[in-house]
Amino acid sequence: MKLLLICLDGVRVDLALPEAVASNRLFAGPDHPSDPRFSVGAPDSTSTTEGARSLGVLAPTLARLVRGDDHSEGTIIPMWMTPPTDSGPGWSSILTGSTHEECNVWWNEFVGHQMARRPDILSRVFFANPAARTLAAATWDAFTVGTGPGPIIQQRIDQQRTGQHQPFHPDVSRGIEAADAAVLQWANWRLSHEGPDAAVVYFEGADDAGHSHGADSAEYRAAITRLDEYTRHLVKAVAERHEQLGEEWLVALTTDHGHKPEGGHGEDEVEVRRSFLIAHHIGGTLPQNLRRVSSLRSNEVMDVLLDAIGVHQGHFDSDGIGEVRDIASVGPTRDPAFEW
Ligand SMILES: [Zn+2]
Repeated sequence: MKLLLICLDGVRVDLALPEAVASNRLFAGPDHPSDPRFSVGAPDSTSTTEGARSLGVLAPTLARLVRGDDHSEGTIIPMWMTPPTDSGPGWSSILTGSTHEECNVWWNEFVGHQMARRPDILSRVFFANPAARTLAAATWDAFTVGTGPGPIIQQRIDQQRTGQHQPFHPDVSRGIEAADAAVLQWANWRLSHEGPDAAVVYFEGADDAGHSHGADSAEYRAAITRLDEYTRHLVKAVAERHEQLGEEWLVALTTDHGHKPEGGHGEDEVEVRRSFLIAHHIGGTLPQNLRRVSSLRSNEVMDVLLDAIGVHQGHFDSDGIGEVRDIASVGPTRDPAFEW
């Protein structure tokens, strides 16, 4: 099965899909405590279901993906982010199946990161089958740009040369909204005409509006609705491939954090830590492992998605793998049997 993973930065699911949040108690509060270093003890600013409903339907495409229909099955799984809830640690964790400690990404600067040891979900697909074709399009340079922070998605230069791995980062000089539109256009053409085996598409518009205007703003809600429509275009592309070619597609969506009413994130407010994983199998029922998951942490997403599409990693275990160890400068005192 092919994978389309759509990453929507900074989307409040209690505003986008209030019914889904209200109907599952596992959306009510975090499933694990936050590190005191990133705790602010702020009150829960989750919107009431009635309050969110009064704002209108913000995300009809997301709702349809969750709901499914006679031919396709969908679900939404509550997910809780581990503070710090900045984008760098959040997306690194989601896309590489790592805790913050494992990838050592704590802030958006990525200083001291271990991403070279924590390959991303697209690379994992490639490692499982080196014939696989992948693409990644992202408004934030930390995803795909080798000279930026990160990158979260490994470069795989050899596969780039042959078009087997295609990364895209738009011109951001005309603003985030235009850059998101460029990501959509680029990804949509390739999804439609090339149908990669796995794709990651990231939009920044909701996060940008949250920072500029806060989660309580009309601008933030409009950004969610715009990205919902972008999502519809991407789903339409792969749905047409299913219809014409019989391809099996798993569409997945997630976010890295919410936003405070006044805007901002990074610590442990409930509405900021709350995330979700939407999964939708176009033209079929959900893979069994997705039915079994009741809630997730960000570092569990990658394995769940890989398992769902049938990707299994090779295994190699031996003493001292990955360790750098020097030998002592003790001169020629070795056993002559080891003299070569
Ligand atoms: Zn973010």
